[in-house]
Amino acid sequence: MRRFTRFAEKDSMKKSLAKIKKLFLDLFFPQFCVGCNTEGFLLCKKCEKNIIKIGEQVCPSCLRLNKNGKICQKCAKNFEINGVLVGAYFEEGPIKEMIHNFKYNHALELKKNLAKIMVNALPADLKIDVITFAPLHHQRLAERGFNQAEILAQEVSKNIKIPSEELLVKTRYTKRQVGLSGKKRRTNLEGVFKVHKAESLKGKRILIVDDVTTTGATLNECAKVLKNAGVKEVWGLVVARG
Ligand SMILES: [Zn+2]
Ligand SMILES: [Zn+2]
Repeated sequence: MRRFTRFAEKDSMKKSLAKIKKLFLDLFFPQFCVGCNTEGFLLCKKCEKNIIKIGEQVCPSCLRLNKNGKICQKCAKNFEINGVLVGAYFEEGPIKEMIHNFKYNHALELKKNLAKIMVNALPADLKIDVITFAPLHHQRLAERGFNQAEILAQEVSKNIKIPSEELLVKTRYTKRQVGLSGKKRRTNLEGVFKVHKAESLKGKRILIVDDVTTTGATLNECAKVLKNAGVKEVWGLVVARG
């Protein structure tokens, strides 16, 4: 009995300490909701409710409805990726602000909300062996301090209990994809990714996590090198389509 009391005491002390820590942080580093600026949260309950999840997935190339975000037969000729699953609408609710603050304002705690949106988009019948993420060139990594896709992949991994591994490297510093046409996006990325650990990838089904996709060019280039290394299936998973 006494042991139990002691554990309980320790537990409540831990809780009080956590409360004091939170009070201290709130006092000196107040948080503001990225959606509506309300003080006290990075994402308030109201804004969380405004997130509009994708109901039906589409082919990542022609954007026609297609189950599980699978690449359609017509587009499959020019694509290596098997499909791309998208969590929510970029322009609706607080998604754009969440991603922006997560990437550029170090609101890293939003990873939990973002991963939840992604996990919700995963169909129950999708079989995955390994999770990985779109790599950043080391120069970009030094500029930003972290790879947002890697953080999201780790969070998704925790949620679905499938390991996340670094499988790809980006060998060249490329122009930002924003503002480039679809064709230029593809040539900008040609030959830029390499497989980091080609061994043990044979026959695997891989899920590549990234924050946003637009034309699917990055995910598809990643899929190309993975398939050259013997991977069986490559699926993309993103928070939103930009
Ligand atoms: Zn809010
Ligand atoms: Zn299509």
